[in-house]
Amino acid sequence: MVYRIGIIGFGKIAQDQHLPAIRSNPNFELTAVASQRGLTPDEARHTFTDYRTMLREVPELDAVAICTPPQVRHVIARDALEAGKHVLLEKPPAATLSELEDLRRISGEMRKVAFTTWHAQYNRGVDVARDTLAGRRVSRLLVTWKEDVRHWHPGQQWIWQAGGFGVFDPGINALSIVTKIMPVPVFIRKADLLFPANRDAPIAADITFSTGAENADLRGVFDWRQTGPQTWDIEIDCEGGPRLKLSHGGSRLEIDGSLVVEEAPEEYPGIYRRFETLLDERRPEIDDAPLRLVADAFTIGRRVPVEPFEDEPGKAS
Ligand code: NAP
Repeated sequence: MVYRIGIIGFGKIAQDQHLPAIRSNPNFELTAVASQRGLTPDEARHTFTDYRTMLREVPELDAVAICTPPQVRHVIARDALEAGKHVLLEKPPAATLSELEDLRRISGEMRKVAFTTWHAQYNRGVDVARDTLAGRRVSRLLVTWKEDVRHWHPGQQWIWQAGGFGVFDPGINALSIVTKIMPVPVFIRKADLLFPANRDAPIAADITFSTGAENADLRGVFDWRQTGPQTWDIEIDCEGGPRLKLSHGGSRLEIDGSLVVEEAPEEYPGIYRRFETLLDERRPEIDDAPLRLVADAFTIGRRVPVEPFEDEPGKAS
C-alpha cells in the first residue's frame, strides 16, 4: 500500500530528513505540504500556507508528518486526527504530557495512528546496547551531550522560548536512548537548570538520575555552549561488567573497549519504515518516557541564572 502523506512545517528537519526519507520509501508519496512561508518541494502536488486548508482540501491524504516546533504540535495533531489523518509527530511529540495524553485519547477515538518518533532510538548501536543491558544491574551511567547551539540552531528563536525545551531539545534525544536501553525505569533525582538571564529556556543542565538501586552513580551533563569537538556519548558500567560506550548519538557502540557497531546514522528511513508498519497494522505508538523525564527535570529542577546568551557573541539581541 502506498500512503499519501503531507508535511506540516517545512523547516530544517523537514527538508534535511523527512523529505529524503519519504522520497526513498516507495510506500509513501509526498502529496502535499503546508508551509507558512509557502516553501515546497517540486513533487508535492498541493501546497498550502495554512495546514487547515490542506486538511480540508486534500481528502486523499492518509497521513501527515508534523515538523513544526513543539509548542504548536498538539493543536495541529488534534486537528489532523479529527480530520481522519494518521499523524507522525516529530520529537518532542508535544509541549506537555497532558497534551500528549490528549493525542493518545483522540487517536484511540478516531482509530487513527499517532506515532511519537524519537529519532535517536533508530540506531543499531542502541538496540545492541538494550539487548546487552537486559537483566543486568547498572552501577554507572554518564550521559554527556554537549554541542554548539550557534552551529546547530542558527537563528532559531522558538528553542529559547518557554516550551521550546532549550538544551533539552537535543538532550531529549539522549534521554530517549536512556529510556530505551536501561533495564529498569530511570527517574530524575536532582536537576540544575542553567538559564541565561535573557532567555526562557535552559542552555545547560546537570542531572542526577536514580533507579532506586543503592550506590549507583547515574548522571547527565547537557550543555549547549560547547565549541570545538561535539560530544553525544552515553557510558554505562554494569556490576561485574560489561562496560558500554555509545557515541556519535548512538550510531557507534563499544563494549569493553571493543568496537561492536559503527554505522552511518539511518534514523529517518528507519522512522518511516516503522510508520509504514504501524499504518499497515493500524496500531498507534505513543512513547512518553523521554518527555516525562524532561518534564520531571523542569518540575523538580533548581533554576540557576547564568550570563545572557546572544546568537552572535558580543552582539545583544
Ligand atoms: P525549524 O527549522 O525552525 O522549522 C520549523 C518549521 O515549522 C518552521 O520553519 C516553519 O515552517 C514551521 N513553523 C514555525 N512556527 C510555526 C507555527 N507557529 N505554526 C506552524 N508552523 C510553524 O525547526 P527544526 O529544526 O526543523 O525543528 C522542528 C522540530 O523538529 C523540532 O521539534 C525539533 O526538535 C525537531 N528536530 C529537529 C532536528 C534538527 O536537527 N534541526 C533534528 C531532529 C528533530 P514553514 O514556514 O514551512 O511553515
